[in-house]
Amino acid sequence: MIKNMFPFFLQILPIMKFVREFVINNPLCVCSDEIAAVKKDLIGEHDKMKLKQDSSHVLLKIVQEQYFMNLKIMVPDKYPLEQVSIEASESNFPNLLKVFFVGQAVEIARKCVQPPLKPNKKDPPFKPRVSLREVCEFLIKDCVKRYPLEICPCCKDRVMLRDPEEVAKDPRKRVERVYCGHLYHHGCLAKYMKTPPFKDGKFCPSCGKRIFHDKWKVTPELAEARWAHKQARERELAEVTDFLS
Ligand SMILES: [Zn+2]
Ligand SMILES: [Zn+2]
Repeated sequence: MIKNMFPFFLQILPIMKFVREFVINNPLCVCSDEIAAVKKDLIGEHDKMKLKQDSSHVLLKIVQEQYFMNLKIMVPDKYPLEQVSIEASESNFPNLLKVFFVGQAVEIARKCVQPPLKPNKKDPPFKPRVSLREVCEFLIKDCVKRYPLEICPCCKDRVMLRDPEEVAKDPRKRVERVYCGHLYHHGCLAKYMKTPPFKDGKFCPSCGKRIFHDKWKVTPELAEARWAHKQARERELAEVTDFLS
């Protein structure tokens, strides 16, 4: 029987060698379905996608109006058992958002291959899954395409100025991101956080969640006291002005 199969082996060996060489020379073929789906569903006419087979990278340039971000996504040898890695190179997004986008994308990729630390007993056993598409969907749809269109909950204007160069001229227009995920102009948020009511904290006008931000860690009592102090000072100044006029 084995003797009869010998010619068959002779035929199949070159095919196996070809397949092996093809996979080595085209490492991105392990995620070709995901790449096709990203191209079809997420890449717009002004965006660019390039595959670098020699270094196993997917390069993306994603554009939304005047804003852009260049992303380099590396697919490791052991994909999909290992997650993709992400790097944002050139971009004109505020650094705060760039750091947030990449940090969250890395976390999404990690969750694709590592079981949760506290698994829910009702969930089925953890199985690693492919991470490229999930990461691209987050970075393109939920970040680069979304944030330039966000509206400031206070002044109802675009948070990210239509001309990215303008932000440097006016620090009040700097972007702040609060815990619920909504973006504000720095000046608008500063004013809102210092204006009553303060009872139980300040809440995001867009989603109703309490606002937490490193720059405004003030208890409602202290915010109330500061407001009262500011009002008293303004009254004093008004009296002095009246007296002098
Ligand atoms: Zn605003
Ligand atoms: Zn919110």
